[in-house]
Amino acid sequence: MDLYEYQGRDVFEKHGLPVLGGGVAATPEEARTIAERLGKSVVVKAQVKVGGRGKAGGVKLAATPDEAFDRANDILGMDIKGHTVHKVMLAETADIADEYYFSYLLDRANRTFLCIASVAGGMEIEQVAHETPDKVVKRPIDATVGVTPEIAREIVTAGQFPAEVADQVADIAVKLWQTFVAEDATLVEVNPLAKTAEGKVLCLDAKVTMDENAGFRHPDHEALEDKSAVDPLEQAAKAKDLNYVKLDGEVGIIGNGAGLVMSTLDVVAYAGEEFGGVKPANFLDIGGGASAEVMANGLEIVLSDPAVKSVFVNVFGGITACDAVANGILQALALLGERGESVTKPLVVRLDGNNAEAGRAILDGANNPLVERVDTMDGAAKRAAELAAVGA
Ligand code: GDP
Ligand code: MN
Repeated sequence: MDLYEYQGRDVFEKHGLPVLGGGVAATPEEARTIAERLGKSVVVKAQVKVGGRGKAGGVKLAATPDEAFDRANDILGMDIKGHTVHKVMLAETADIADEYYFSYLLDRANRTFLCIASVAGGMEIEQVAHETPDKVVKRPIDATVGVTPEIAREIVTAGQFPAEVADQVADIAVKLWQTFVAEDATLVEVNPLAKTAEGKVLCLDAKVTMDENAGFRHPDHEALEDKSAVDPLEQAAKAKDLNYVKLDGEVGIIGNGAGLVMSTLDVVAYAGEEFGGVKPANFLDIGGGASAEVMANGLEIVLSDPAVKSVFVNVFGGITACDAVANGILQALALLGERGESVTKPLVVRLDGNNAEAGRAILDGANNPLVERVDTMDGAAKRAAELAAVGA
C-alpha cells in the first residue's frame, strides 16, 4: 500500500524525523485556514500517488493565506499523469540551499534491503543514477544488523555528503531505518532531503509503501487506506476476506489455489482468442478448504461485475473434496436466490481431483440449466469463453 505524502510525513514525524508542520486540505477554503494557522509562507503540494509533481506544476509556493487559497484552487482537480488531485498538503516553506536523496527499499532481486543515497537529490534518482552513477551510493542492508550509527556514517561518507550535514544525515539514516522496520515498510524515500539556508536538514517529501502482508501487525495502517481509490468490487471482496483482483475481461473466474487460478487466467485468455479476444474478468482464489458460504460470497462478487458474461468455476478437489464443492456451488446458488440476487449468467464448472466422480454426479443430479459441467480445464475454458462471447 502506497501512502500519500501527507500520510508519509505523519509517519516520519511519529518516528522523530525532521519534517515541517502542515496540514491537508480538500478545498481552497481549508487551504486558507491551514495557511492562517501556520502563519508563515507555505508550500501547496498536490497529493497524488505518483512522482514528478513538482515538474507537473503540482508544487507551488504561497506567501499569504489568500495566495494559498489561489494555489490550492489551481492544483485541486489537476490531472498529474492520469491521477486527479483531490487533496493538497500545505507545509511551512523551507529555504532550500541543497537537495539530497535518501531511501531504503526491499531489493527483491537480490533478496535483501537496500539503501540508496545521493547528494544529487530533487530530481528523479533513476536519472541521477544514469547520468552520474558515481554520485549514487547503493548499500545492501543486512536485516539482522540494521543501520547502526557506524553504518550510517559509512553511508554518509560513501555518499560524500558535506561535512556540515554529516551528523544530521547520519542521524536521519538511523531513524529512517527504524521507521522502515517499525512500520513494516517496503519503501521509505525522501526526495528531497533538503539542507536549508540555516544548515538544517529536513525531510521535504515522503514516499512510503507499507507491506500489506504485515497489516495484521499494524491495525493503525488500515486507516491509511484510501477507500475511494480502490475498485468497488475489490473493496467488497476484501470485506469478505476474498483474494480477488479485478481484471478487464468478460469471463468470471473462481478457483481454489492461487496457482490453479493463475493458470486458469492463461487458459481462458488463450481460449478466448478464438472468440474475438474474450478475456478473464478477475482473479479469485477461494482457497483450499472453501465452504459453501465462501463459494456463495465469491459467486456474488463475480456475478455482480457487470462486465462478466459467463463464469468458470475451476476446482481441483483436495482437502475439500469435489462432492463438497459441488454441494457448495448448489448451496451458493440457492443462497444467492435467498439474498435476492437472481443468477442469470451461465456457469461452467470443472471438477477434478478428490471425489471428482461424486461431485460431477451431484451437479448432474441438480439439473440446473445455468450450470454446465465440462471435465477438462481446456474444454471448460473454451466453453466459458464461448458463452461469454455469445452473451456479450
Ligand atoms: P515531487 O516532484 O512529486 O517529488 O514533489 P516534491 O515534494 O519532491 O517537490 C518537488 C520540488 O519542490 C522539490 O524538489 C523542491 O525543489 C520544491 N519544494 C518542495 N517543498 C519546498 C519548500 O518547502 N520550499 C521550497 N522553496 N521548495 C520546495
Ligand atoms: Mn520528491
